Amino acid sequence: MEVKKITVAHGDGIGPEIMEATLTVLKAAGARLEYEQIEVGEKVYLNGNTSGIDQSAWNSIRQNKVFLKAPITTPQGGGYKSLNVTMRKSLGLFANIRPCNSFHPFVRTKHPEMDVVVIRENEEDLYAGIEHQQTDEVVQCLKLITRPGSEKIIRYAFEYARLYKRKKVSCFTKDNIMKHTDGLFHRVFKEIAAEYPDIESDSWIIDIGAARLADTPEMFDVVVMPNLYGDIVSDITAQISGSVGLAGTANIGASCAMFEAIHGSAPDIAGKDMANPSGLIRAAVMMLNHIGQQDVAEKINNAWLCAIEKGLHTPDIFKEGVSTQKLGTRAFAEAVVAHLGQKPEKLSAVEFDKDVQIQIPIYQRAKAASKKLKGVDVFVDWKGSDANELAVLLQRLNRDIRLSMITNRGVKVWPNGFEETFCTDHWRCRFEVENGNPALRESIPILLREALNANIDVIKTENLYEFDGERRYSLGQGQ
Ligand code: NAD
Repeated sequence: MEVKKITVAHGDGIGPEIMEATLTVLKAAGARLEYEQIEVGEKVYLNGNTSGIDQSAWNSIRQNKVFLKAPITTPQGGGYKSLNVTMRKSLGLFANIRPCNSFHPFVRTKHPEMDVVVIRENEEDLYAGIEHQQTDEVVQCLKLITRPGSEKIIRYAFEYARLYKRKKVSCFTKDNIMKHTDGLFHRVFKEIAAEYPDIESDSWIIDIGAARLADTPEMFDVVVMPNLYGDIVSDITAQISGSVGLAGTANIGASCAMFEAIHGSAPDIAGKDMANPSGLIRAAVMMLNHIGQQDVAEKINNAWLCAIEKGLHTPDIFKEGVSTQKLGTRAFAEAVVAHLGQKPEKLSAVEFDKDVQIQIPIYQRAKAASKKLKGVDVFVDWKGSDANELAVLLQRLNRDIRLSMITNRGVKVWPNGFEETFCTDHWRCRFEVENGNPALRESIPILLREALNANIDVIKTENLYEFDGERRYSLGQGQ
C-alpha cells in the first residue's frame, strides 16, 4: 500500500512531548507514513530568522502537502508575526475545522450531549494583521472580509454538514454593528444557505450566540464564523467539552493541509510530562482521514476512546471518582497503543467512510458592479478639542467638495456634536458631493494639497463609494 510522506514539526513548549506521543501511536497503529522533520517556531526566531520558518521548511510542506504540526510559541505584543497565521494564509488553508464533542460520563463536563463543529474562516478578518499607529493616541487594525473568502468557508460548512450528515449550519456575526464587513459574511451565508434546502440554517449575533453555545451547546451542530470569532469560540467549545487539550483541528486548503491541536504551546506545563496529547492525536486522525488511511484513523480513534472510557486520563481531565488512573503524556500514549485493535464498549466506536474529500468549486468573480465615487473621508491628526474649530479650518479648503461631517472614534462631533463626547487626536472628516460630481476624483488631490498648505496633518483617506446605487460606507454614529 502506498506510503505517504508528510512534514512534521515538533514545535515549542509541550510541542515535542505531544508530538512524540502522537508519533508513537501513529507508528504502532501501522500508519503508512514517512516523516520529514522540519524546524519552525521559537528556535528559528532566536536564530535570527524573524519569519520563524526557512525556505527548506516551506519547500518540504509545499512538496508533501500534508503537515502535522505541534503548537509553536508566538511572542505576544511586539516582536515576530504569528507563524501559525503566516502558514495558514501563505498556503491558502482557508478552512479551519474544529470538532468539539463531549465524552460523558468519562470526561467531566457540564454538557454531556455536546457535539459541535466550529468552522472558522482562516485567512482574513482582523488576522490580515494590517495595523498602523496613526496619531499619538490612536492605533488601527484593518478588518478585511471578502466575498471569495466568505463564499469558500460558508460553502465548505454546508458541504461538510451534508457529507457528515449534520442537520444544521449556524452563522455567527456582529452585523448589527459591523454592517458592511460582518454584513457581507452574513449576506453570503443567506445566499449559500438557500442552495442547501436539505440543511437547516440559522443566524446569531455573536455575543448571544456564543453565550448560548457556552450554556446549551446541544442547540448547535455546525457553526461557521469569521476568523477571530472562530478562534475564541472554538477554544470555549473545546474547554467546555472537558479540556482545551482534547480538540484537534484541520486547516484545509485547495492543495495543502495542516493538522494541529487547537491549544497552544502551554509553556506553564512544558517538560513536565503532564500535557494531554489528545488534541494532536485527534488531529492526526483527521489527517489520516484526509489522506485516505481511514483504516488506521479508525483504529487509533477507537483505541483512544477505549483509554478515555477506562478512565486513563492526563491531569487536565483527571477527576476523582470518574478517572481511574492519572497518566503522564508518555504513559497515556502507551495506553492508547495498548488498546489498538479494540473497540470502546460504552462510548460509540467510530467508522469512517472511505475517500471523503470536500470539493469547493473554484470561485467565479461576478460581473463588476457599477461603482460611483460619492466623496472622501479624510483622517486628520489634530490636537485641538473643539470640532467647530477644525470645521472652520477645513471649510476654507477646496469649495468643490463639501465638508458634511466630522467624527471622532466614529461618533459625530460636527455639526451639532455634544460636549460630553470624549475626543482623541484622530478625526474623520467627511467630504461629499451632493448629486455626483464628475470631477470629484480630481477634487480629492486638490483638497489634500490645500490641506498640506494649511498645515493640516492628513494621515489617510478612504474613498466613499456606491455600488449599484447602494451606499457602501458607514454613517457616523448619531448621523
Ligand atoms: P495554551 O493553549 O498554550 O494554554 C492555555 C492553558 O491550557 C494553559 O494553562 C495550559 O497549561 C493548558 N493547556 C493547553 N494545552 C494543554 C494540553 N495539551 N494539556 C493540558 N493542558 C493544556 O494558550 P496560551 O498560554 O495562551 O499560549 C501559549 C503560547 O502558544 C503562545 O505563544 C501562543 O501564541 C501559542 N499558541 C500557539 C498555537 C498554535 O501553535 N496553533 C495556538 C494557540 C496559542
